[in-house]
Amino acid sequence: MQGVIICSQSGFHTVETADGQLFTCQLRGRLKKGPRRGDVTAVGDNVRVTTIEAGIGVIEEVLPRKREFFRQAPTPKGEYQQIIIANLDQAVLVFACTKPTPRFGMLDRFLVICEKQEIPVSIVVNKIDLTGISEAKKLFDNYSQIGYGVFYTSALTTEGVNELKEHLINKISLFIGPSGVGKSSLLNEIQPGLGLSVRQVSRATSKGRHATVVREMFPIDGGGYVADTPGLKALALWDMEPEEVDGYFLEFRPLVEHCQFSNCTHIHEPGCAVLAAVKSGEMNQNRYASYVRMRSSLEEDN
Ligand code: GDP
Ligand code: ZN
Repeated sequence: MQGVIICSQSGFHTVETADGQLFTCQLRGRLKKGPRRGDVTAVGDNVRVTTIEAGIGVIEEVLPRKREFFRQAPTPKGEYQQIIIANLDQAVLVFACTKPTPRFGMLDRFLVICEKQEIPVSIVVNKIDLTGISEAKKLFDNYSQIGYGVFYTSALTTEGVNELKEHLINKISLFIGPSGVGKSSLLNEIQPGLGLSVRQVSRATSKGRHATVVREMFPIDGGGYVADTPGLKALALWDMEPEEVDGYFLEFRPLVEHCQFSNCTHIHEPGCAVLAAVKSGEMNQNRYASYVRMRSSLEEDN
């Protein structure tokens, strides 16, 4: 039988099969043997299972992942690839247009992390009842222009929530965002009870040693799963060279080839096409500031 791991705890994995049956499974011993450079299983993994009795099975094989969201965790034996969630279809970055004031630097950092790992992203701007949609659009319109999908929602009035829900159907989605922006409220509007479940798991997980790893994802009506990101702080710019950062700012891509120097940092060089775009007002000032900040912090680390 084949299924997907929807929950993992202390070596026990809950596997859901295509027809909706749940099995509690441990890993076949041989899968745990040998030197490992990363997690053998993660929530989101497709697995082949044999059953022992009703509701109990053994994971015989972990099927190849189409995508991984991971972090490199340094260990005494070398780098270890910790899988945050396997087979993720998209990251949903949730911010509020006010209360709390959006932190665009944080949004840009999440976008860079997702670009590096080739994870499709969309942005949710919640609490539009507080500012009105046109004010909210003024704040985030630049991201639509760059090419990101932006949803404007209010968990309070439910405006925009159906569009967001449709976007989640038949996908594995990871919700990412600072606290207080309305993630749980939105999930509850998408499906009653969902926000509460997600929050309980996230609270429990964010304290532990495996703070960055998703321990459970929740099915949504109509198909698909959602998970929350426990331990936001651990979503750092790991394993990135300063020179790659410009490639993860999508609106830089058509410009950099016109820079005079091929190793241009886009910070001080003459003939820099990015700096020219900043000067002419074509490039968003906040985005450019985020770029400079990320690049400098990576250079300090090296
Ligand atoms: P989370 O920490 O991201 O899960 O945020 P919560 O869902 O707990 O929401 C934080 C606070 O914002 C709560 O007091 C919610 O009632 C409120 N809130 C959430 N969504 C909205 C919204 O769309 N509009 C308004 N006005 N308040 C909201
Ligand atoms: Zn340049």
